[in-house]
This record gives sequence, structure tokens and C-alpha cells, in this order.
Amino acid sequence: MATAYGGYMGKVLKVNLTTQQAEEYPFSDRDRELYIGGKMMAAKILSDHLRGNEKAFSDNNLLVITTGPLTGTGAPSSSRFNISTLSPLTGYVTSSNCGGNFGYYLKKAGLDGLILCGHSETPVWLELCNGQAVFHSADGLWGQKTEQTQAMLDDALRLPNGRVRKNGKICIGPAGEHQVLYSCVVSNERVAGRGGAGAVMGWMKLKAVCASGTQTVQVKEPERMITHNQKWFRYLRKHPLTGSQLPQLGTAGLVSAMQMKGILSTKNYSAGQYADFEQISGERLAEQYHIVNKGCLSCPIRCARTVEIDGKQVKGPELETLVLLGSGICNSNLEAILRWNYELDQLGMDTISCANTIAYAMEANEKGLWNNGLQFSNIEELSQLFEQIAHRQGIGDELAEGSKRLSEKYGGKDFAIHAKGMELAAYEPRKAVGLGLGYAVSNRGGCHLNGGYLVILEGLGLSINPTTYHGKADLTMMFQDLMEMISATGQCLFTSYAFFPSPLMTHPNSWYTRLANGVLPYSGPVVRLINKYPQIAHLHLPVFHHTKAFEYATGMKMPFGKYIRCGERGYNLERQINIRFGADASKDGLPKRLTATLQNAADPQSKVPLEKLKRVYYHARGWNRNGLPKKRLLKKLKIGVDDHD
Ligand code: SF4
Repeated sequence: MATAYGGYMGKVLKVNLTTQQAEEYPFSDRDRELYIGGKMMAAKILSDHLRGNEKAFSDNNLLVITTGPLTGTGAPSSSRFNISTLSPLTGYVTSSNCGGNFGYYLKKAGLDGLILCGHSETPVWLELCNGQAVFHSADGLWGQKTEQTQAMLDDALRLPNGRVRKNGKICIGPAGEHQVLYSCVVSNERVAGRGGAGAVMGWMKLKAVCASGTQTVQVKEPERMITHNQKWFRYLRKHPLTGSQLPQLGTAGLVSAMQMKGILSTKNYSAGQYADFEQISGERLAEQYHIVNKGCLSCPIRCARTVEIDGKQVKGPELETLVLLGSGICNSNLEAILRWNYELDQLGMDTISCANTIAYAMEANEKGLWNNGLQFSNIEELSQLFEQIAHRQGIGDELAEGSKRLSEKYGGKDFAIHAKGMELAAYEPRKAVGLGLGYAVSNRGGCHLNGGYLVILEGLGLSINPTTYHGKADLTMMFQDLMEMISATGQCLFTSYAFFPSPLMTHPNSWYTRLANGVLPYSGPVVRLINKYPQIAHLHLPVFHHTKAFEYATGMKMPFGKYIRCGERGYNLERQINIRFGADASKDGLPKRLTATLQNAADPQSKVPLEKLKRVYYHARGWNRNGLPKKRLLKKLKIGVDDHD
């Protein structure tokens, strides 16, 4: 199905693993206008298919892999792709925005998206080339770890002259094959980590997908696009967050700031500070272990760290892994974390859910609820434990189910740190309550990014009052919608960091930064006004280059107000799907440790006032008190109305 818009290849392929048949999936230009690409395109496809009675491991589930209209256009940090599916971990829709080069090569193969359904009787891998799909046996690949799998796939794609055909690939490791509920999908060294998409691939018996081809992305206004991209690259390189902090320290650079703000999750989120934080800090990583920066295609930020394990240069840990396998389990051995990070990527497991599940198990053991032998600070046998989880052997078979299910079996729900069944990221939210709200209401569960990442205002970029509820709900909504759209266009969410004018970052004690910190909690009415009347923001913001790039690439008009409105549509559409699977206000929860226990006994505000925040958030969003979008909102967003209010 061709498209009148630039940036798209105009084709989505649906591949049935049971029949090994492929057909084009109709996705019209009207769909593109409303659902853009990436996770929103995937949500539209899932919404048209899922009725609410499907299971993640069934022929009725879909695995939807999509790109955005900026993927492969040369826009900064735009090589991304998205994977969405019904999550085996949460039972709701999950989505993962992943870097590497697979998104770029999916477009080279002539596709905006790939829909997978059914399951194969024997392991297979799928080759996509110039719009065609070919199945291959994966007998030799099954059981292999992710690095070896990708090396073997390169061998399979070797040309007669000995060179490997240029390609992008995704694959699963042993964890996905054994349907560990938090298995991830790996592409090069990048990971689509959250929600268990790897387990769904494993259930389908699909070991890998390789994409290659000779197609190129055509944009509507190539010259303006090039000039704009050059300006945007320069802007990102100059910005203190995207030009200095991320390239110099990676996301790991946040450890010290989190310690200072009391949001460094420690000992299974029982505290927000860790005495040995310097041992696991980004500064120590940079000084003693970092070798060179790496980046995804077309990315000026290049945030990835390279470290050495057993004489081999491999990807270093992100912040989440450092914290959750560090302070989260009372471990200050950084070298061990570097190794575990590599091992978990090799096995194809989400480091966040895995670490938090182990932390829960350690605490359950400490409290005498579950005699499992795991202890905080005792890290001797963690490598073996990861192998056991990935292969579902011994205690690993139980840990493969995640903390929610374990707490239902052994008790300790108050300290099983998840939202909707997905373990939380590394930020302890009692000293960043806006992020606490985001975790709770996030469509995919305990995710900082899908939750709106308000912590960037609550201490990691700006410093608004971290424990007030004022303004948090409205700002959370706006940031969620903004990031929904950035992700949908095929870009990395880190490009949004540069949204904050540089002087606010470089002069934290200046009058204007203090003014911004003071005013932002009271910006709720303005946010709601823009949300209600997006035409007020019929403009392009100088600090937000995304809207113009979108226009030059696609030819669609996309002022800032409309950009937010599109993101709002995406967020509500995923919510609507989740509601079919039982989501409502009662599921937007956090464990009592975070809502009922003070982090600091002397500070009565050091807990997440979740119910109060949710009330304001639902109202701002146009949802009813049970957390269901009202009909008039759905009509406004042009989302098909489900019969629930
Ligand atoms: S900022 Fe980091 S994760 Fe994002 S595209 Fe660049 S290298 Fe990849």
C-alpha cells in the first residue's frame, strides 16, 4: 500500500509462523496521520486485533515490530524500532523502543513494520529482504546466546565474495526460548528490554529476524531536512545533557545525583541512599573501566559505554543495571556488575526485572517468608543464578516468573516492587513523587520512561519540589504524551533531554533556574489549556527540533500542540487496550513500601501520595474516577469508543 507521505516505506508485512505465509497488512495514510509510527502504529494494530480475552502465549497474540517516519532519515538518534505485544509479565500491552540498526535495515528491506503471529513447530529464523520474507531452520541457533546467534546469522548472510551482506537483526537468548517472563529481544548490543517480548518470540519458536535490502527512505523536503538535521546535531552536541553528561558518563552519570537527592533505590527500595554509592558511580566507571563510547546509527549523543570483560570489549551497564544490581542488592562490586550486565544480555534477560526479582527474593528470605538461600550483599553465585533463571532450572524456574507472582505465592506484597506486574526502574520514588505517579499509571507497568520520567524535573535536571503533589499530575501527562510521540516517530527518548534550555542546566542556582523550579509546580492550568486547545501551541519551539523534522520528512503539518495531541492519542489508545484486559484505577498501584511507609521517619512527605496524585491525573487526562477515558475524550482523539462508561 503506497503512501503519499515521506518518511514511510508504505508497507507493513504480516507473517504467520504457523502457515509460514506472508501478506501485506493494510495501513492507510489516514492511519499514518493518526497513529504516526512506532509504538502508536503498533497500538493501532494491536487495538484492531485484541479483544481482551487473549493470552500472551497464544496464537491470538501478535508481536508487532515497527519503525517511525524519522527512522533512517538521518535525523539525530533516529535508528530506533519498537516492539509491542501483549506482555506475559503484565498481561497488558508492552512496548520497547530499541536502538542499534535494526530499524534502519527494516526500512532498507522496504518495510515500516512487521507483524508476527502464530507459532512454528520447530525453531526458525526469518529473513526479510526487499519486502519478501523467507523462513530458515534455526536448529543450529536454538540454545545459543545472543552474541553467538548474531555471529552465526552473519555467517548465514555471507556473500560469495566472503563479505557479510549488510543487515540488521534481532534475536532472543536462552531466556526467551524458555519463556522467562522478562526475556528481552537483543539487537547488536542494544536491548528491547521490558515486558517479555523475548518470551513471546520464544513461544513462537522464532529465534531471530534479519532485515536487509536496497530500499531508501524518501523524505518530502530533502534539502530543508538536511539543513535542519545539521542544526539539530549541533544543538544536541552543545547541550549540557546530550553533549556532555551523556557522552562523558552515559546514563550511569546519574548515580551520584540520585544519591544526593535520596532516590537511589537501595536494598530493594527500602532506602534512597547507599553508603558505597561511589563504588558503582558513573564517574568510577568512566575512570577505571570505560574504554570508548559507542552509539546507535545517526546518533550524536553516543551514550553507550564500552568496557572489557575477559579481554573482550563489550557494552557497559546502563544506570538501571548499575543501581539495581548494585545498591539494590547491597553490592558495591562494580566489576561484578559489568560482568553480569554482559551475561544478562547474552542470556536475553531484562536486567531491571531480573535484579528486582532477586532483590525481592533476598528480602523474602531475610524475613523468613521463603527459604531460598539468597542474601543481600552475598553475590558469590549470581552468575550461576542467572543461568538457572534463563534455563528455568531449580530456583531459577520460580524467579523466572517475576516478583509479583512470587509475592502472591510466598507473601511480601508490600515489598514486591512492581506496578502492574512489571518491576520498577532504579529511581526510588518517595523522594520524587511525580515519578511515583508515572510508575503507577504507566501503560506498560513500572517504567520510568512510559511513566513520563518526571524525575528529570524533580532533581536530575531541574529541582522542583520533589515531594509536593502540585503540578505533578499535569506535567506527568504532558511528558508522557511528548515521549509517546518522540518514540512513535522513531527517535531516541534521550533527544528530549535537550528540551530544557541549556542555561537552566548550567546555572542551577541562577535566578531564572530558581524561578523555573518555583513556577513549574503551578503550571498545571497552562498544561491543561494546551491539552484542551492544542491550537494555542500552533508553533515550533526553538528548543524542540522534533516537530520541524517531522514536517520536512513526512510533509504532514505538525506544530507543537498537534504533536502533543498525537502523543495523547497514542497514550489513550494503549490505555483503551489495557482496559479490555482489566486495567482500571485499582491496577494503577504501587507497593505499600512506597505509598504507606516513610522513607525518612522525620519527613512526613517522604512517601508517594498516590491516591491524591491519581485523582488529579485522571481529571487532567479526562478519565473518570475509575481511570477509564471518557467517551468525549475518545471522540476528541478519534479513538474507537469501547463500551465502558
Ligand atoms: S542516545 Fe544512546 S541509546 Fe539513544 S540513540 Fe544515541 S546511542 Fe542510542
